[in-house]
Amino acid sequence: MIRMNDVTMVYDNGTRAVNKANLRIDEGEFVFLVGASGSGKTTMIKLLTAEVRPTEGRVLVNNYNIGEMKKRQIPYLRRTLGVVFQDFRLINSKTVYENVAFAMRTIGAKGKAIKERVPYVLDLVGLSEKAHEKPLNLSGGEQQRVAIARALVNNPRLIIADEPTGNLDPARSLELMTLFEKINELGTTVLIVTHEKGLVDEFEKRVVVIDKGEVISDQTGGYYQL
Ligand code: ADP
Ligand code: ADP
Repeated sequence: MIRMNDVTMVYDNGTRAVNKANLRIDEGEFVFLVGASGSGKTTMIKLLTAEVRPTEGRVLVNNYNIGEMKKRQIPYLRRTLGVVFQDFRLINSKTVYENVAFAMRTIGAKGKAIKERVPYVLDLVGLSEKAHEKPLNLSGGEQQRVAIARALVNNPRLIIADEPTGNLDPARSLELMTLFEKINELGTTVLIVTHEKGLVDEFEKRVVVIDKGEVISDQTGGYYQL
């Protein structure tokens, strides 16, 4: 599903954001990617979504070779991924329902499929009641769940969330992680980027720690030390 072999990513200004990183994530796993601010977490995610390409080494995501794929293949890679952005990126003029339905329309889904699938994912994230609200009438946690519903609606093999609990209080953060756990149990591979140690420790999951662009620890069981 994800393979990083000796991956280095150097930005144009010379910053070495990822340094000889190795990472393997298999189908069905639930993985936390943790590290201090500036350690290279976002760059790792950008490598997986082909927003940036590796300077050295090989990145494979759902059988796409990120370093070698053609630009026109990138949309196909992204269809296999559900990405939840830190800033949600919802369309504020559209309802919750329409935000999620829109993601299906952009890949050419038919009306019937949309009418079946959207209510299902809204129910999964606990937002059925809010289907006709606009995002700005929702709490931060609810907006976050709309973003998750949208990431899930096309049934991606892998869902990636970048600091999904950034704006949430501890109780809501725990709820959200429990939701990701449920999504994982339904068969989707989950990769969550976070710097919230306390939250990670609540879950007995695999934790990959990066520091200065290097994978310095990779173990299962929750607790991690920077
Ligand atoms: P994190 O997500 O863990 O905070 P990032 O991947 O955003 O880490 O950043 C890793 C390093 O790369 C940092 O030193 C950061 O300043 C640098 N960096 C991030 N984006 C860019 C960019 N577009 N150009 C140059 N340097 C960048
Ligand atoms: P269409 O004209 O595309 O067939 P409908 O007339 O069925 O769509 O629906 C009109 C609007 O009602 C849609 O744009 C959507 O916002 C909303 N809607 C449709 N189905 C549902 C549903 N199951 N749950 C919530 N909202 C829905």
